[in-house]
Amino acid sequence: MTIPSTHQIAPSFRDEIDRVRTMFFSRDPACWPVFGDPVFASILGFRKARAPERGRVQQYPDGKILEAQLRREDRVPQGMRDPKDGPDPLLLFAAALSKNWEDPASVENVVTSPCDPALFGSMAGILANANLVHPEYSEAAADLESMVIRQMASLAGYDPAVAAGIFTQGGTFCNLYGYLLGIRKSLPQSHDLGLEYGQDYRIINSMAGHYSNMTNLSLLGVNIRRKTIRVRATDNNDIDLACLEQQLTACFQLDCVVPTIMLTMGTTDTFGVDRVRPVYDLRNRLCEQFEITVKPHIHVDSAIGWPLIFFLDYDFDANPLGINEATLPGLQRNAERFSELKFADSFTIDFQKWGYVPYTSSLVMIKNGADLKALEHDEEYFSYFETELEGQTHLHSTIECSRGAAGLFGASAALQYLGVKGFQCLIANTLQNANYFRFRLSQVPGVKLMVAQNQGPSVGFRMYDPNVVSDPEAEFDFERHRHDDPGYRERVDRNSRFHREVFLRRGKIGLYTNWVKFIAHTDYDSLGRCGALPGEKAVFMNPRTRFEDIDQFISSIRAIAAPTPSLPQ
Ligand SMILES: *Cc1c(COP(=O)(O)O)cnc(C)c1O
Repeated sequence: MTIPSTHQIAPSFRDEIDRVRTMFFSRDPACWPVFGDPVFASILGFRKARAPERGRVQQYPDGKILEAQLRREDRVPQGMRDPKDGPDPLLLFAAALSKNWEDPASVENVVTSPCDPALFGSMAGILANANLVHPEYSEAAADLESMVIRQMASLAGYDPAVAAGIFTQGGTFCNLYGYLLGIRKSLPQSHDLGLEYGQDYRIINSMAGHYSNMTNLSLLGVNIRRKTIRVRATDNNDIDLACLEQQLTACFQLDCVVPTIMLTMGTTDTFGVDRVRPVYDLRNRLCEQFEITVKPHIHVDSAIGWPLIFFLDYDFDANPLGINEATLPGLQRNAERFSELKFADSFTIDFQKWGYVPYTSSLVMIKNGADLKALEHDEEYFSYFETELEGQTHLHSTIECSRGAAGLFGASAALQYLGVKGFQCLIANTLQNANYFRFRLSQVPGVKLMVAQNQGPSVGFRMYDPNVVSDPEAEFDFERHRHDDPGYRERVDRNSRFHREVFLRRGKIGLYTNWVKFIAHTDYDSLGRCGALPGEKAVFMNPRTRFEDIDQFISSIRAIAAPTPSLPQ
């Protein structure tokens, strides 16, 4: 297939990304001796062979037996196992046959294959077994945590001397901190008395947000039905600012406290990116107008989107990396949005996603470290720590007690080895892939791309039967205008069924895509309700995926999408 010039990979860019692949994604013992360990090498070797999903167990020596044992075994062995007798076969089997993220075809959801330095870094952290709960248990690891937090603060535009951060258990917990910071600041009595005591409040988030935006509220004991305002999303899946203004104004008019406004920069399936500056300005203006002293805390869920901050200082005019024309303008638009991240009071970083660090590695960043004061629990609860050191910790404010340091060490290694430039190459490379995929898909009959303008790593689409639907754009438009007519439901279901069947029948060729129940929302009806349209998606975060893998996938769906020729009479 010929590649139009706008999508071509510049030779200088190719050299750079190939260098990144060789140095940081090769699992090569020449660069990273730890992968030369015979057991690690055998695990990696098996995975590299990319055995087809069916038959993979058979290809593993004694695979069937080991699998049966894994599924049946329920007793801890009585005796000891001498390491000289070789590694535990069950351990090896489970590692070799865990999901293979190194496979170039792996574009499933927002999961990535970690880079070599982050694996190495995490292993070093595990070896040291630092516990970040307290400096007594972490010593130098606590300084490493502070260093990474300062580095991330500088990248995002926070003052590194004032900002704080906490490495925690996943993006979900980062968002939990975001909610909690707002709740404890504006409803301090909630600390001891819970949320239903005292003043009326509403939490605000976006309908396009990740499910953790809701599950966390339930965990916090927030009355989701009555005390949560889910603001509408626009067609781009970013928050509807006019609707947000209406809701916030209504709250303040009724003397109702708004602890937290949860925004999202990079929605999971469609990469909607909320603007922060207008929300920040709106909040400040309304707080002044209504004389509200404790302002709503603005948290940004940037679990996926955060790596765009590596481009805040990129010279888009000179384009030193040679990012292709199909990708540069969209990247610049998103980088401009991320330059507003600094207006958030806190935000979520998942290193474990687009940051190429092994699980779990997440960091909640807080613009004003003093905000953590509001989370402090009574010192009397913490009897067994050395009080002399407590001024230097967030011990009294963290949700967790023990905090493992593997995620921190992994993140730190990724940052120090890849540097800003390495991350820029990786991110730009995946976006070039996403755009190439969009371009190829747009040539397939019956395909409608979802929010292509959002220019994130995720590419969602709906596929219609070309024998029935001649114009996918018009069909999607019809589907978006939800109404109660039974003919409408039938037609949407017919289309969804077609795509779902094609998806299941096709098997996984070239790229391992996912089925998503909610790839697009319909228009809001007069009651403010909207429906979900399902579809398929691929998320391009894998540095090993190449145009050839994309071409292979496209050929396989083209074969299905070709309209059936009418039979000769
Ligand atoms: C993945 C994701 C989360 C949840 O993060 P975990 O690390 O899986 O807990 C939250 N928000 C968004 C937008 C995400 O994509």
